[in-house]
Amino acid sequence: MSLVENIIRADVRALSAYHVPDAKGFLKLDAMENPYTLTPALQQALAKRLSETALNRYPVPNYLAMKEALKTNFGVPDGYDLVLGNGSDELIAMISIACAKPGAKVLAPMPGFVMYAMSAQFAGMEFVGVPLNADFTLDKAAMLAAIAEHRPEITYLAYPNNPTGTLFNAADMEEIISAVGDSGVVIVDEAYQPFAQTSFMSRLPEFSNLVVMRTVSKLGLAGIRLGYMSASAALLQEFDKVRPPYNVNVLTEAAILCLLEHADVFEQQAAQLRSQRSQLSSQLASLSGVEVFPSAANFLLIRVSNPKKSETYGNEVFTKLLEQKILVKNVGKMHALLQNCLRITVSTPEENAQFLHAFKLALD
Ligand code: PMP
Repeated sequence: MSLVENIIRADVRALSAYHVPDAKGFLKLDAMENPYTLTPALQQALAKRLSETALNRYPVPNYLAMKEALKTNFGVPDGYDLVLGNGSDELIAMISIACAKPGAKVLAPMPGFVMYAMSAQFAGMEFVGVPLNADFTLDKAAMLAAIAEHRPEITYLAYPNNPTGTLFNAADMEEIISAVGDSGVVIVDEAYQPFAQTSFMSRLPEFSNLVVMRTVSKLGLAGIRLGYMSASAALLQEFDKVRPPYNVNVLTEAAILCLLEHADVFEQQAAQLRSQRSQLSSQLASLSGVEVFPSAANFLLIRVSNPKKSETYGNEVFTKLLEQKILVKNVGKMHALLQNCLRITVSTPEENAQFLHAFKLALD
């Protein structure tokens, strides 16, 4: 046996690494990034703040100032604390590690965010995927049945969901959170909250097993890598024990403290993207052979169909977009429900128009 076979778990060896395509030279509409960069005034304010940041010291261990700024800006209820992560990806990893008792299970509706299943696997937990309805709404009966059967330690509900953009019914979610009860945590993942404008954050006091998770990535700060989650003190205290020390660096902290003083800029951008979403959605829906699913996020899931083409028409359209230097996400292979589906990030009016032009050519 080779060294790798001797030491690396067989299931890890069988994995493929999280693939991020090289987007150099492409119009990048695959990763739900905010297309707007910082204004010159904000760049200057940030440069000043970063230049004043001491890099020779570790971050302060409790991140008190950053947590206070996040709590006031993002409506965390009084008395509720936060745990911070290097992106919400790291929070998902921390929750998985903390809950990975032998035999522990993770449950989520599918199609869903890929890291829920991957992180469960990394931590040695079984993942149970519960199919959504064909219109990507929550199949509440199937969720309740799966919860009763598996008693999962962790249940994820992305609100709105990725890659479908669906905003699940809040009453269904409440029923699921209550059904899980004391036997598991329910993570309401609000990565796309700026585009949905609804949240479970204020509902934390109602459910002792509820964790609300957010990120600043989709707001326009994907590069600084900051996620945060709130829950009861009892839960947060345990999750914090598996957090790598100093996991959020001082440059991220300085950037957040500076930029949250200008939070209105990001809120205006989110408002613009919401209106561009509805415009792009109706433009796409007017094309024949294109189905657009309702989205409360900064992306649109569409299905393409053409009776004269093969069953994998979505791949053809994706390739024709690539040939025109447009990168979207081809999600067709992710799940049976997503056949011939593409996921497109909503961007500026100019970039949306560029996409639309190329897309019409790709449909021919
Ligand atoms: N949750 C959902 C639903 C997502 O779609 C993503 C990113 N695509 C994340 C979490 C991770 O976000 P980040 O690590 O950038 O905070």
